[in-house]
This record gives sequence, structure tokens and C-alpha cells, in this order.
Amino acid sequence: MTIAHRALHLAARPDGDPKDSDFELRSGTLPAVQEGELRIATKFISIDPAMRVWMSEAKSYWPPVGLGDVMRASAIGEVMESKHPKFPVGMWVNGMLGVQDGLVSDGKGLRAFNPKLLPDPAWAMSIFGGTGLTAYFGLKEIGQPKAGETLVVSAASGAVGSAVVQIGKVLGMRVVGIAGGAEKCAYVTGELGADAAIDYKNEDVGKALKQHCPDGIDVYFDNVGGEILDAVLKRLRLKARIVLCGGISQYNVIGDVRGPVNYLSLISARARMEGFVIIDYLHRSDEAVAELGAWTQAGKIKSKLDLIDGLENFPTALRRVYSGANFGKQLVRL
Ligand code: NDP
Repeated sequence: MTIAHRALHLAARPDGDPKDSDFELRSGTLPAVQEGELRIATKFISIDPAMRVWMSEAKSYWPPVGLGDVMRASAIGEVMESKHPKFPVGMWVNGMLGVQDGLVSDGKGLRAFNPKLLPDPAWAMSIFGGTGLTAYFGLKEIGQPKAGETLVVSAASGAVGSAVVQIGKVLGMRVVGIAGGAEKCAYVTGELGADAAIDYKNEDVGKALKQHCPDGIDVYFDNVGGEILDAVLKRLRLKARIVLCGGISQYNVIGDVRGPVNYLSLISARARMEGFVIIDYLHRSDEAVAELGAWTQAGKIKSKLDLIDGLENFPTALRRVYSGANFGKQLVRL
């Protein structure tokens, strides 16, 4: 049996925003499945802002994607053919499957899940995938949240940010979300239940933080870096914690990244700013999934998906997270 195969390869290191020409769509066929292997049909590919970093030569928690290699991506898919004892036909799996419509795998790094237990199989890529786990462990482990404290979250309507806002509320915090535009801000206070939202595209963030956090900020969950991080640094409370989860405002200027100007505030506030990468917590996934599952069933956590169809539209989907066109977890559906 010959199985057709399409994959998106990295063709060039981007300069600024990723372009269509940074990728090359190649067609071919998959090799036959050997003993101890399985064939997966990809169903959903996760769009992660860090992909822009992986495409560059920048030092990161993972090596750069090699020129000519299949673009790295987390994805979920269904087992279509198997000679592997742990992954029978019909099982769904999650892993770093890459930007391709299918692959033959030896099973290493794959996690099985039951899509029937989820409202939608794609939730294995949002609240029950890396997104939800990032929000959960980033806030709980690095943020050390306490009921009654003030939590500020940037990119608050996005995949990770929206989960952080809701987890913060479940934990009894006062939550202020920062997002771009009136519609996203209304979603942050309405659907997600934040106490206030700041529209960074149309408001002075420093003034708005003063208004909404009159006693200062205890925990800042940073998804964006740049000027917003600087504005937050000016309003820290004593013993504040900053979770450095992401710096999307800087990903397209890799090589000319601007660090925080107001970092001396960390001294007077005796505050802590700590980097976080979800891969360090993946061995504890079950613990997070159990608690997130209970909160979801209780209606305390919602998850919004933003779907784009077709492997060839991966570059368009990727650009959406840098322009803020996405509203919810950005996925490519195959
Ligand atoms: P989102 O769904 O939040 O999409 C990105 C959002 O970022 C956009 O919708 C946009 O929202 C906002 N944004 C884009 N550019 C800027 C800018 N210049 N200034 C302010 N906001 C901007 O993506 P994710 O939830 O997947 O990722 C959020 C962050 O979390 C990223 O930085 C990502 O790298 C990081 N991350 C880190 C992980 C880790 O292990 N450390 C794991 C997973 C994600 P708006 O319209 O509001 O501007």
C-alpha cells in the first residue's frame, strides 16, 4: 500500500515576520511500517509563538530547526496502521509530529489519549495539552499564587493567557488581563471572569495598571515581554513574582531583543523574576490534567479554539499569533 505524504520544510531563516517563502511544501510517499512502528494521520497541528524562535538560529531550550528539515510542531493524530504493541490502530496520540499530514514513528515521545473523554479532540492541544499545562504549572509553581493577591496576565485572551486568567480566578485571586482591542478585553472580563482588562493597543498601560492595581501587583504572568513587562515592573508589590513564560513582542526581532529597563524595581520590591519552560513539568501532566478536568467539568474553565484548515495554510496560521489575529488556541486542522 502506498501512502501519499505532504510536509512543510523550513526553507529559509525568517527576517522579521515568517513568510510563505520561508517554507517549502514537499510531496512524496511514506515508507512501509516495520515491526515496532506505527503510521499516524495528523489531525490538528498546534501553532506556538515560539516556532518563530525555533526557525531562527537563536539559542533556546531546543536546537534550531535545521534548514531543509520538516518544521517542528506539536500535533495530534490517529494511528492508521500499527506493528507496535503499545499503539493499536484507532488510538489517538499527541507528540512532536511536525508540520506534515502523517508520519511513520517508532512510538518514542508519543502520549496516547482518549478523544471521547474530551468535548472535542482538539482540546488535547489546548486546555489538556501544552497550553493548559503551561498555564497551570507556570502559575502554580513559579507564580506561587495566594487567594486575595493581584495577578496580572498579558496576552490574556490567548491560549495560555485565557487559561491563566481562569485558573487565577479559581484560586481566589484578583485578576487583571491585558489584551489588544475592545472585543478581546470584553471577552477577558466577560467569558473569562477577570476583574478588569486593559486594552494595551488603545490605553496607556502604566496608567491603567495604577488604576486597576492600586496596591500593586503580586504576580505577573508574562507572555509578551517588552514595554508591557516594563510597565508592570514599575508597580510591583513587596515579594512579587514574575513568571517569564513568553516574550512574543520580541520574537520577530531576535538578535535585537530589548531587555527590561525597569529591572531595578526587582531590588526594592525584593521580587523574583523566573523563566519557565513547560517541558520541565511534562512528567507531572496527569496531576494537571486531573485538576483542569475537574474545573472544566464544573464550568470554571473554558477553552476557545481558532481553526485554520489545510497544511499549506500553516504560514498564515503562524503569522496570526504575532499580529493578534487569532482569538483562542490557534490550530491547523487537517
Ligand atoms: P496566544 O494564543 O496568546 O497568541 C499570541 C497572542 O499574543 C496574540 O493573540 C496577541 O494577542 C498577543 N501578542 C502578539 N504580539 C504582541 C505584542 N507585540 N505585544 C503584546 N501582545 C502581543 O499564544 P499562546 O497562548 O500559544 O502563547 C502565549 C505566550 O506563551 C507566548 O509568548 C508563547 O511563546 C508562550 N509559551 C511559553 C511556553 C513555555 O513553556 N514557556 C509554552 C507555551 C507558550 P493580542 O491581540 O492581545 O495582542
